[in-house]
Amino acid sequence: MKILVLGAGYTGMTAALGIARRTRRQGVQVTLVNPTGRFTERLRLHQVASGQELADLQIPEMLDGTGIEFVRGWVTGIEARQVRLGDGRELPYDTLVYALGSVADTDTVPGVRDHAYTLNSAQEAARFAVRLTEIDTVVVGGGGLTGVESAAEIAESHPELRVVLLSREVPGAMMGDRARAYLHAALARLGVTVRTGAEVIKVLPGGVELAGGEVVDAGAVLWTSGVRVSPLAAAAGFTVDERGRIVTDETLRSVSHPNVYAVGDAAAIRQAYGVIHGTCQSGIPTAAHVAASIGRQVRGREPKPFRFGYIHQPVSLGRGDAVVQFTRPDDTPRRFFLTGRWAVAYKEFVSSSPWKSFALLKKFGGAVVWPHGGRATRQGG
Ligand SMILES: Cc1cc2nc3c(=O)[nH]c(=O)nc-3n(C[C@H](O)[C@H](O)[C@H](O)COP(=O)(O)OP(=O)(O)OC[C@H]3O[C@@H](n4cnc5c(N)ncnc54)[C@H](O)[C@@H]3O)c2cc1C
Repeated sequence: MKILVLGAGYTGMTAALGIARRTRRQGVQVTLVNPTGRFTERLRLHQVASGQELADLQIPEMLDGTGIEFVRGWVTGIEARQVRLGDGRELPYDTLVYALGSVADTDTVPGVRDHAYTLNSAQEAARFAVRLTEIDTVVVGGGGLTGVESAAEIAESHPELRVVLLSREVPGAMMGDRARAYLHAALARLGVTVRTGAEVIKVLPGGVELAGGEVVDAGAVLWTSGVRVSPLAAAAGFTVDERGRIVTDETLRSVSHPNVYAVGDAAAIRQAYGVIHGTCQSGIPTAAHVAASIGRQVRGREPKPFRFGYIHQPVSLGRGDAVVQFTRPDDTPRRFFLTGRWAVAYKEFVSSSPWKSFALLKKFGGAVVWPHGGRATRQGG
């Protein structure tokens, strides 16, 4: 039996390692495809954007001894039983795990693709970091948690820069009042200018244009607003939602193609409270669940339904501060939140835990407690 996992991000790695561990005596071949051998720590790309260097985490080293075949390549097409790569190679599969994640949306607002930087890769984040040393004002477009973390990180690393965070909504809107107030006070302390209700309608070579015509000048624009997924799933004929994510049944199989599982940012997974949004917190449990399901199927048993509840919204505010809002399973805020050095330690634990979890997963399979957060049902092997 051939199991092909597309994408070696947080969820693809979790799925591949989990499947290999759970099927190691069953004659199953697991293949993992990714464009680079270096693991992209997306959770930390705002650190790269502000000039910090990350550890060199090598996927082939992590896979060593697991029996997983690693294929370096870019997927360009998916057919009924095989996947095509950009260099013309074809990879057959019986079961596909689709884990291609998402990237910042550079298509919706004119000028983003040509004039803005994104956190879509470590290379682009590093180019942006170099640009920061040549300018005096930077605009961060998008006041979601990625925009907030980026603005804070840049302001802390480059106190000489004017950092402007432009946001339609109030940053931290999903948090409780006190955690949100803490977040805003931290941004103010770091000297970030927050403009709420600011809708960017165009990115220009030297700044952005807002609805109403005002132009905000900037030497560089970092775009963090909205995400888009690969068009491959729709092109392959899988049922997708309005954002191009694969619609799954309750066991995380494609509703149109039962031999395809979808996980992480690339999947539209419905729970009682709605469709879960793209985070590691939710994505890693989806991948662990799929690994358990495939392990069950290989033994002739049925996969179980996936159930997930959020536990937190951890937000770094530079290296020296953070705020962690604890949540109910539907991601609405509870009363409890952490700030200051306890929150910094918590956030650092969350960011570093996936790679450590991969090592545990490689060794112990499904018997791993997932420290990055999120609650999922566990399936026995
Ligand atoms: C700056 C930043 C901070 C964040 N902070 C948090 C946080 O604190 N907590 C949290 O829970 N979430 C956070 N997120 C969100 C989190 O990073 C994503 O939800 C997570 O990475 C999704 O995992 P994934 O495996 O689905 O996708 P990814 O990790 O993006 O992995 C997808 C993989 O697929 C590969 N790929 C894509 N297309 C192709 C192709 N055509 N062929 C071959 N390979 C391909 C990519 O190269 C990549 O390796 C943050 C995101 C950013 C950008």
